[in-house]
Amino acid sequence: MITRRIQYEIAGNVVGPFLTSLDKWRKKLRPKKKGPKKEHPFGPPLESVNRLKDIMTRYYFQGRYADGAVPVAWVTSGFPVEIFRPLGFWTVYPENHAAICSVQRVVPELSDVVEKEGYARDLCGYARADIGSVMTGKTPVGRLPKPDLLACCTNICQTVLYWYRALAEHFKIPLVLIDTPYVYGEAPEHHRQYVKDQLLELLEVAQKITGKTIEPEALAEVTRKANIGSKLWGRCLDASKNKPAPWTGFDEFFHMAPIVSLRGSDECNDYYRGLAEELEDRVKRGVGGLKKETHRLMWDNLPIWFNVRGMSDLLAQNGFNFVCTTYTNAWYEAGKVIDERDPMGSAAKAYTHIILNEDLPKRLSLMKRLAREYDVVGAVLHSDRSCKPYSIGQYDLKDRLQAEANIRVMVLEADHADPRAFSAEQADNRLTAFMESFA
Ligand code: SF4
Repeated sequence: MITRRIQYEIAGNVVGPFLTSLDKWRKKLRPKKKGPKKEHPFGPPLESVNRLKDIMTRYYFQGRYADGAVPVAWVTSGFPVEIFRPLGFWTVYPENHAAICSVQRVVPELSDVVEKEGYARDLCGYARADIGSVMTGKTPVGRLPKPDLLACCTNICQTVLYWYRALAEHFKIPLVLIDTPYVYGEAPEHHRQYVKDQLLELLEVAQKITGKTIEPEALAEVTRKANIGSKLWGRCLDASKNKPAPWTGFDEFFHMAPIVSLRGSDECNDYYRGLAEELEDRVKRGVGGLKKETHRLMWDNLPIWFNVRGMSDLLAQNGFNFVCTTYTNAWYEAGKVIDERDPMGSAAKAYTHIILNEDLPKRLSLMKRLAREYDVVGAVLHSDRSCKPYSIGQYDLKDRLQAEANIRVMVLEADHADPRAFSAEQADNRLTAFMESFA
């Protein structure tokens, strides 16, 4: 245990930072390509990208040595992760890891393994990638630490329940479930109490595993930090209300990693403070995410992780920018509600009112508000084969948005994780036709 703890500290505080600075030096020393520079449609790269890489590289590198050194919890993305921090848990988000697998295009390989075990290809690509990674030990991040606790909240979908049950069976460890009733309008008091009671039970389990007691002051402090971090993230998103937007929706997808994985930490808040300042400075200087932003769009649903590059190039070349997305916005909406004066009660409210746990009228009104505030002329609704709860009702949303927000809307059939359920040619044709409709 002591040796492992030393390895863990050295990995996080010495080797991790050394590797990231080595990488920077390698890039600096790499011979520059000769000949004329290739023209591209994007504005200058964000300087914060380097800090983002540092933080996330260190996070995954130190994580390799976390099990055996500190308690480890694997959590779903809509889980009130803050609660674990004062108890010293290292938290892993299998969904975030699966997104990396998707960017690296290893989902088909991992999925093949679980499909042979009887899991259907219709199951969410994140679940298939994660279970495949657990079964094979293959991962683009080197190694994921083994969990001591699994924490699953059904506010995003029911898939996570069955996925985490499979993990609990595999690792033979406890699974804590936070069951959030679906919300029509506003969650009634008894629903919130039901969720709060489960959060209190979670505390008991987490304390038992760590042998520590969580102090109310520590819980209030981490809640305060998570709230600040979410608001800073909201400030970054708000910068795109300006014209031109200082970054693109595709940038947002990558820069959301710390608010997902490190919410409630100083590191997360420092990062977003710096990013917000950089974006606001770009706004002042009129620097856009695109060199020439002619049309502003909204994106709905998860990104197509393995095709972000191709799609962002196509849109940017034509002056189209996703200036807001319902997905990145979700990480602001919940966190801004949590309140240090009532950590558990406010968490119950915040994590019940997650976009995927809310009815279609709520989603429509959110999208109309975003369309208005970010002044978009159109929207692309990604009908995601993997994520059914996010995709259900999109054809109704399309009609209502067109009629009530007076914007042009298209539905794009794709998948956020598995390239086998995606045709780049078809998607490009459909997006090109959509862009031409604005001519
Ligand atoms: S189905 Fe959707 S919400 Fe559920 S794990 Fe997959 S991507 Fe996340």
